[in-house]
Amino acid sequence: MKAVKENKNRGKWVVLLGAPGCGKGTQSEYLIASDFNFKVVSVGEILRHNKDTIVPGQIKTIGELIGAGLLLPNEVVIGVVKLELEKMNSIIGNISDQNIIFDGFPRTIKQAEALDELAKGFNNSINYVINFEIKEDVLFKRILGRYKCSNCGRIYNDYFLPTKVSGVCDVCGGKVFDRRMDDNEESLKVRITEYYKNTYPLIDFYKKSNTLYNVNADDEFEHVKNCVLEILNKECK
Ligand SMILES: [Zn+2]
Repeated sequence: MKAVKENKNRGKWVVLLGAPGCGKGTQSEYLIASDFNFKVVSVGEILRHNKDTIVPGQIKTIGELIGAGLLLPNEVVIGVVKLELEKMNSIIGNISDQNIIFDGFPRTIKQAEALDELAKGFNNSINYVINFEIKEDVLFKRILGRYKCSNCGRIYNDYFLPTKVSGVCDVCGGKVFDRRMDDNEESLKVRITEYYKNTYPLIDFYKKSNTLYNVNADDEFEHVKNCVLEILNKECK
């Protein structure tokens, strides 16, 4: 609506799109630490913190659905994002002025439409959608090789970004690492199928709103990072 365009100080509200393992999580970590001072709404993180909660209307827990690689019901995910935005708004003030990354959301057209509505409610809009394009074999290595320091949370990968000293975190020296519960081959196949069925159509959805930017995510982290920065340094339309 018009009110959105009149707000000149509005922050960059960014959606990162891409198949599981495309590297968007690592890029968003970089962006959060960058001069853009991004806040992140990581739906995956929030849901993993609530993994023992039963999914409304179902007999399985959130963790069981994620573990099987399945998408959660739209209402659940949309509700989580709405709560998170309201929480941020009450803690840090007017979030319309903040730069925000949405990681792992939206994953369906319904969620994308809901996000547009939510953004409008906060007097902003999704103004950048960065689509990480990746080849399937690279994707499997990214996902299956990924692990994380249990102490500081730094993300590593067996194939692309191992610790400098085997088994020791570069950042904090920690020796315990987590592999995410859904990082196994079987659930990966389900996740990729879900991605192409439900999330891939978002590329067309955002093309129509003229906010879509494609990045070749097969490249080295640094190169992908620079492409993303170049996109974000452009003024919003
Ligand atoms: Zn660490």
